[in-house]
Amino acid sequence: MALRRATFRLYPTKKVNDLLHYHRRLHKELYNAAVSNRITSYRRFSKSVSYFEQQNCLPDFKEVWTEYKKINSQALQATLKRVDLAFQRFFQGLGRYPKFKSIRRYSGWSYPSFTGWKCHSTGDNGYLELAKIGSIQMRGKAKLWGHLKALDIVHRNGKWYASIVSNVDDELLRNSRKTDDGVIAIDLGCNDAIAWTNGQENGLIPAPRFFRKAEQKIKRLSKGKRRKRSPNYKKKQKASRRWKKVQSQISKVYRQVANQRQNWVHQITTRIVSSNSTVVTEKLEVKNMSAKANKGKRKKQKSGLNKSILDVGMGMLKQSLKAKLDDVSGVFSQAPTKKIKPSQTCPKCGHQEKKSLDQRLHICSNCNYTQQRDIAASEVMLLWYSNQLPGFGTNLAGADDSSSTSRTRKTAGSMKQLGQKKRQKSYSTGGDVETPPETL
Ligand SMILES: [Zn+2]
Repeated sequence: MALRRATFRLYPTKKVNDLLHYHRRLHKELYNAAVSNRITSYRRFSKSVSYFEQQNCLPDFKEVWTEYKKINSQALQATLKRVDLAFQRFFQGLGRYPKFKSIRRYSGWSYPSFTGWKCHSTGDNGYLELAKIGSIQMRGKAKLWGHLKALDIVHRNGKWYASIVSNVDDELLRNSRKTDDGVIAIDLGCNDAIAWTNGQENGLIPAPRFFRKAEQKIKRLSKGKRRKRSPNYKKKQKASRRWKKVQSQISKVYRQVANQRQNWVHQITTRIVSSNSTVVTEKLEVKNMSAKANKGKRKKQKSGLNKSILDVGMGMLKQSLKAKLDDVSGVFSQAPTKKIKPSQTCPKCGHQEKKSLDQRLHICSNCNYTQQRDIAASEVMLLWYSNQLPGFGTNLAGADDSSSTSRTRKTAGSMKQLGQKKRQKSYSTGGDVETPPETL
């Protein structure tokens, strides 16, 4: 059994649409009330409130605010759970202090189990029935469909979506993805998104640069936006209609870029996994690599590099690869970058030599082996995986088969490659000490 998520667009009638908005607003208010409860309890009585305390208050809460009686109680619990998660993230040093949310920042609510809703669908269009709200037409197609588990109702860019989690049978899962027993090593980069080799053949997949292409358009629109009246909540000034119009055009471009990138990542990874059940790649910390340069004259340069790193969607690529390999019980292996230095090592003789970032060709000064830089790096990784890297013994000790992305923010790593050594502020990860922030 494996969980799969499928998203459908909802087409509510006018009446149901109003009800959906009403429920969303109630959930948002509950969220804010729960945040406020935690803050005041800590400030006044220096006592931190747990999720269960808040959950146990729900029945009393409903007696006072009777409109909440109409809402599925598990959905209400799920909203409290969101508050709890937001605080946990903060205490782990992963996020900011939870904010009160305005309705436009509150996307929707969840049904954590199969109560309060019904779905009349076989994974291809159909109807969704929400208790106390009504029946809604939905459109979309799930790749895999199974026993329904949970549902999220999401309002995004003026449209409603239902994101349904279902438990898919193993057999269905096995048949859904084909693979072969090939072994491939890939090197992720910015100029060419992927350089790959399987020992016999190699190749490059150019980076799609979706964002770079859309950047001009965003710049032009933003320039126009600056001349229109922006909202100023302190002065109680509303945004003008023209400002809102441009704003929605801008967010549309961003959305398109994100969709294009996601689509591209799916296509590429499906292609890779369709013929290879073992993928070797380099261990990268995208979050560290793309950490902001705080100061220094290389700031602009670094932010340009960050854009390119994020534009390829390296993190997404790896995640998607790993998930697809899991489906076919394949192997996703990550070479320890610092130990084997794929971009500095010669795949033929193991000689190590530093290259600068603009040096696109690997020419070994020891054995004269010449190859495109990134392909050479992937060759090194493939050799490392098959234990044939010249000058290295067994690799299993240093291997890291899990793609556990570190959950803490660290300092920027690739700044060194730009020739700059600058210490950066590292975020504290002081775990369990519950300290309220001074400014609220
Ligand atoms: Zn060499």
